[in-house]
Amino acid sequence: MCSKTADYNWETVKTEFLKEIDLKPCDGCDSCYLRCDRDIPMTREEFLNIRFYIQCECHDDICEIVCEDKRVDMGDGVYYQLCRFLDMKTHKCAVYPVRPLVCRIMGHVEWMPCPIDRISRTAPAKISLILMKTYALNERKTYEEWESMENTHDR
Ligand code: SF4
Ligand code: SF4
Repeated sequence: MCSKTADYNWETVKTEFLKEIDLKPCDGCDSCYLRCDRDIPMTREEFLNIRFYIQCECHDDICEIVCEDKRVDMGDGVYYQLCRFLDMKTHKCAVYPVRPLVCRIMGHVEWMPCPIDRISRTAPAKISLILMKTYALNERKTYEEWESMENTHDR
């Protein structure tokens, strides 16, 4: 592969990376739910995938989850706000099949290790770096920011 990031095709890089990781240990595990920050960035494509999933799947369930109080009390009057798609009762992700890349790589790259040591092998550093550099070429915003832009366009 050429070393210039701009030469990489995003879909190819993503496919190559996903071949390197085993997502099975994460299936059904919620031990890192406190990392589900409210400001998770995503590409417009990821935003559209989530929005489409919400429209097509069980809307009522997801709407209820989105309306939950996402604050976590850290003590001394300090609260940490979690992701709108995190079910605060079960600690599961309501949009798991279409969650953004950053949620998928948790535990599978060296710089975001699994907090319970359940993942024995992370993706090779070289391909992980290419993945992130290529991903970073995409514009990324939070779900709320994309939604607000789309709503402005629809007016
Ligand atoms: S990264 Fe670790 S803690 Fe998080 S879901 Fe995967 S196995 Fe569970
Ligand atoms: S989209 Fe799902 S996995 Fe990603 S931060 Fe939100 S709740 Fe967590």
